[in-house]
Amino acid sequence: MLVDTVLLNCKVYLDKEIFEAGIAIENGKIAKIGKQPNLPEASEKIDLKGCLALPGLIDVHVHLRDQELAYKETFYTGTAAAAAGGITTVLDMPNNKPTTMDESTLQERMRIAESQILTNVGFYSAFPEEKAQITQLAETGAVAFKIFLVKRIGGLNIDDDYEIIEMLISAKKLGNPVAFHAEDRKEIEEKRQKLMLEGKNDISAFLEAHSPEAEIKSVRRIIALAKSSDTHVHICHVSCGEALKLISEAKKRRMKISCEATPHHLLLSSNDFSEKGSLMLTDPPVRSKEEQQLLWKGVSEGEIDIIASDHAPHALEEKFSDEIWKVSPGVPGLETTLPLMLTQVNRGLLSIDDLVRLMAENPAKIFGLDGKGILKNGFSADITVVDLNREGIIDSSKFYSKAKYSPFDGWVVKGLPVKTFVNGVLVMDEGEIVAKPGVGMIIRRKF
Ligand SMILES: [Zn+2]
Repeated sequence: MLVDTVLLNCKVYLDKEIFEAGIAIENGKIAKIGKQPNLPEASEKIDLKGCLALPGLIDVHVHLRDQELAYKETFYTGTAAAAAGGITTVLDMPNNKPTTMDESTLQERMRIAESQILTNVGFYSAFPEEKAQITQLAETGAVAFKIFLVKRIGGLNIDDDYEIIEMLISAKKLGNPVAFHAEDRKEIEEKRQKLMLEGKNDISAFLEAHSPEAEIKSVRRIIALAKSSDTHVHICHVSCGEALKLISEAKKRRMKISCEATPHHLLLSSNDFSEKGSLMLTDPPVRSKEEQQLLWKGVSEGEIDIIASDHAPHALEEKFSDEIWKVSPGVPGLETTLPLMLTQVNRGLLSIDDLVRLMAENPAKIFGLDGKGILKNGFSADITVVDLNREGIIDSSKFYSKAKYSPFDGWVVKGLPVKTFVNGVLVMDEGEIVAKPGVGMIIRRKF
């Protein structure tokens, strides 16, 4: 037997253990994992020089932009950033221009992306205006639905509990999970109006409006609304301990609920605003050191299911304004998430098992990404190769993302992705993109 590619001289992560082995790849899939002498002959042999091969990492919270927001990011630059950061699959959020919210907008996004992408891409959709469109969205292959409770995006009236319950029931029937940006719109809007009238326009005003209470209130509402529908709900970017506690309690009552944390909420705190200013503004914002500690506790105790970047690129000028309300919240994260997390592995705050569970296994399970998330015969040859001993300094000027800034600029990291294979193709080698766009595949959820 002659296969396409064999990866030699690597350490392979298999079911919580690391083996000295090689990986044979055929037709974009893993054909065999085994000791070198037992591997088939291959047209191409790649020496991984003792580095660690992990299942291709999956980032479930990414804003790839493109279309009318192409000045912030495109399918090409966004997936190049992903591959450079050791990510092989991303899930794209629907708050685009035009909003991804019906069959035609989803199809158009898939059509544009197809020839441009360097990693696999699945798509979220917002809920449509016309209810009948929900089924068509699922048929077209939307991976999940997203509801922003902080601001209406798409056809759903977020102030109407009954409408939300109806949508959750439809999603359940179609088998799609529903992800939530959990912040209470009314509470934030009221506070914001009041602060603006008082002439308060700075970062502390933003933190006051986007308070932990607004998030907690929203998580409580989601849990109450989702209870009756039995739909899988996923809470994005949890930022405070109390919200996490509510989610954990709901899990104990056997609710189908999961949640994610971002590197910025885990590694930055509100103390950092004095140095980094509105550049590091995100929504929800990073919280106090105490909240940060509670998130880490959630990571180590398995309460947090996924680490996702919430890669949200903007033009640099959109990150600064005299009025904080005009600043676009969000930071790029595709190129920093893995190095930052590997650094925590080296510091003993995270194990490799945790990292693989949080960034590959759970994302594949929760979002129903068949054939991904673990290294196994017949599964996609999506492979993230890392060197745990390699040190580097985060330098946003070298990002593939169009957003060339980062709150982590200058941070020393230990542990870097050195090769990224997507569907068996070497896409990133030693930090450089070495494949042509189009090697990534559009993930369509089976209907
Ligand atoms: Zn987001």
